[in-house]
Amino acid sequence: MKDLHDTEHNCGPEGYPSYFPGENPFFPSGNTADSGDARYPGIPAVFPWYAPRSSDAFLETLLNIPGVAVESMEITGEGVIITVRSTVEGTRCGRCGREICRPYGHGREITLRHLSLFGNETHIRICPPRYQCVRCEGSPVTTQKASWHSQRSPHTTAYENHILTQLVSSTVGDVSVREHVGYEAVMGIIARRIELG
Ligand SMILES: [Zn+2]
Repeated sequence: MKDLHDTEHNCGPEGYPSYFPGENPFFPSGNTADSGDARYPGIPAVFPWYAPRSSDAFLETLLNIPGVAVESMEITGEGVIITVRSTVEGTRCGRCGREICRPYGHGREITLRHLSLFGNETHIRICPPRYQCVRCEGSPVTTQKASWHSQRSPHTTAYENHILTQLVSSTVGDVSVREHVGYEAVMGIIARRIELG
């Protein structure tokens, strides 16, 4: 068995590349190429995988939710909360059904349970944009409907699919306990799916 602190393969504590001035073999004279980004002190901009936006792009790929961009992410006692914003413009008027694109602020913030991230309960938070119809009388406002979430559900569609898959081999009670989701919430997922056909 190989020694876990095998310095030949840079696995040991001494083997980690250092970003402190004078200690970095790539920048022996110090970090003159510091990216200047306050969130990445001392990280040279020439390392593309440390580019400020790369972590969000990585997270967006993992999230696998179409039409959203990650705004922020926080880890709380209850799990992970990922705040996103819609990158889709416009929606259909709730009254006449026409495509509308005149912005009218945002609807109330909603928090939806999503697939767990590394075993941590994960929630997506979003303020859906609202749009105003200029053709209908009284210029009614409609909140954008996301393709990845049914309006009355407190979960993303991906999470509901995950629960339904679990129900193939378990009871509602089992899934409720295992997933830390109320019994009624699991029943709600089943009911909505039957309704949608
Ligand atoms: Zn309309």
